[in-house]
Amino acid sequence: MNGTPQNQIIIAGAGIAGLAAALAFASRGFSVQVFERAPQLEEVGAGIQLSPNATRILGRLGVLPALLETAVRPSAVLLRDGRTLAELARVPLGEAAERRWNAPYLALHRADLQGALLSRVNETSGIRLVTGAAVTGLAQSSAGVVVTIAGEAGRSEAGGLLLVGADGVRSAVRAHFSRSRQSRYSGEVAWRTTLPSDSPAGRALVEITSADAVTAFLHSGFHLIAYPVRGGAAINLAAFTPARGFAETWSGQADVAPLRRAMRSTAPVLSRLADEAGPWTAWPVHTVDRRPPWTFPGVALIGDAAHAMTPFAAQGAAMAVEDAWTLAANVAAAPDNLAKALAAWEAARRPRVEKVARRGAFNRFAWHASGPVALARNLVLKTRPPEKLAADLDWLYGWEPSEL
Ligand SMILES: Cc1cc2nc3c(=O)[nH]c(=O)nc-3n(C[C@H](O)[C@H](O)[C@H](O)COP(=O)(O)OP(=O)(O)OC[C@H]3O[C@@H](n4cnc5c(N)ncnc54)[C@H](O)[C@@H]3O)c2cc1C
Repeated sequence: MNGTPQNQIIIAGAGIAGLAAALAFASRGFSVQVFERAPQLEEVGAGIQLSPNATRILGRLGVLPALLETAVRPSAVLLRDGRTLAELARVPLGEAAERRWNAPYLALHRADLQGALLSRVNETSGIRLVTGAAVTGLAQSSAGVVVTIAGEAGRSEAGGLLLVGADGVRSAVRAHFSRSRQSRYSGEVAWRTTLPSDSPAGRALVEITSADAVTAFLHSGFHLIAYPVRGGAAINLAAFTPARGFAETWSGQADVAPLRRAMRSTAPVLSRLADEAGPWTAWPVHTVDRRPPWTFPGVALIGDAAHAMTPFAAQGAAMAVEDAWTLAANVAAAPDNLAKALAAWEAARRPRVEKVARRGAFNRFAWHASGPVALARNLVLKTRPPEKLAADLDWLYGWEPSEL
């Protein structure tokens, strides 16, 4: 065992939450050990949108310059009718977003985000990242916390002031406190693929979207998001369909029949994508009950481990980054009173995360609407000028961590 030095932070998981937390704690002078179960860090081929509330913090963590090398700064978020392709709403991004929210809105490949976080971690002294090492147990004491790690070389222990459970939707750290608090299948499947912009399907899509925008095509019980990644060389597609009886824990390449069915009555240029754009990866969307505690003596859960939500507000990773930054700030402000620091952090984070999750649930309701509800939605959106739609997002994208 390595003892329990008071400036030592242990992190379970090297996803977006874990790597951001490692950088945030290291920037405040803590010594950090990150244990990642996977033997190698690799991200599946899919895109991610990073809103200004996240990029503002990634800037402070020194990650932004690397992200900007490959990320696209979309000019707008467009909502379009999935059948008629008519534009329903436009939220200006690009320079307007940077002026309004003081940080860029980015669309990028997940591998590029992970690569940028990882190279920043590797060049930061005070962070040790161990892969092929799963956190399998923990013991709390008044002196701190001791975790058990299972790796290729067998079992070992590591001790520290705080264990950060950043181990994702099926968190082992969360399970330690409540076996019954497992993730739940939301009933939605995310179908993801990327296609070259200069492929026939890519060119057809670019003709009906703005090449540099995030476009959401809304349809009854279904929506499709398309946006450029890799400097515009590829287009990321994510389609969401309800699917009952789908293998709930399974993700991988799947029979696209449910996707084809969901897209059947969309515009031909969209419905053809089910067959022309693949291979699609089917990703059952899981959520975590947010109500039980996120903190325990010497332990904090962050990111999906604490509050995995449906991705309809595109905010899961942003919340993980906000969690990471604010947790490090709270602990650094009162390292001698960890219980108080953790309680203050959780109290501040809960209303914010709850509001974001509600926004995602509302988006799903509005975007998948049909009949009179869809007509009413379209009417409301049409009458709302872009400036007003942007102002509606100030609470979300303009969020600043409070200085402690
Ligand atoms: C289709 C889809 C689209 C999305 N789009 C967006 C978007 O545009 N913008 C956005 O902000 N969010 C988006 N999200 C949400 C976002 O992807 C997640 O919220 C985010 O990746 C969660 O990061 P995390 O680090 O908490 O968890 P994870 O990424 O799951 O990382 C957890 C890590 O912990 C490791 N691990 C697990 N168990 C252990 C253990 N016992 N010991 C050690 N390591 C362990 C895992 O191997 C993994 O590396 C989307 C989600 C989906 C499904």
